[in-house]
Amino acid sequence: MEYRKSRHRDRILQFLKDTNEHPSAECIYLKFKKEIPEISLGTVYRNLKILQEQGCIQKLTLGDGAERFDGQMTTHYHLVCEKCRVIDDFEMPHYNQINEDAEKMSRFKITHHRIEFYGICEKCQNKTENQGSKKEK
Ligand SMILES: [Zn+2]
Ligand SMILES: [Zn+2]
Repeated sequence: MEYRKSRHRDRILQFLKDTNEHPSAECIYLKFKKEIPEISLGTVYRNLKILQEQGCIQKLTLGDGAERFDGQMTTHYHLVCEKCRVIDDFEMPHYNQINEDAEKMSRFKITHHRIEFYGICEKCQNKTENQGSKKEK
C-alpha cells in the first residue's frame, strides 16, 4: 500500500530506530507532545500501524497485553522484567534449528519464531534485596 510521506511518521520511525526501550504508543506520544504540540495519541497509533504494515517496525505483545514497539527489525530475543515491565534486547545467538524442529513436529511451514524471556531485571533484583535488608532492621 502507498502512503503519503509524513513528517510525524518519519520522526516516530527514527525515534524507534534509535531507542532500545521498546516504548508503548503512550510513551511515544508523551515524548513527542513536547516537541510537536499538535500531535495526538490517535496520530501516533495511526502512524505506528502504518509503519508496522510497511515492515519498518514490529509490535510486541507481551504477557500483560500491553503493546510495545520495536524499530529493530533483525530477529532478536527479548528479556521482560515482570516487575518494572522493562523490555531489553537480548543478544543471544538465534536458534534457527528451532524452526526446523518445529516444522518436523507440526504441519506448519514455519517462517520465524519469537522468544521472550520473563523474569526480574538486575535493577529490580537489587531493589528487593535492599527492601529485604531494611525490613530486618
Ligand atoms: Zn525490573
Ligand atoms: Zn527489541
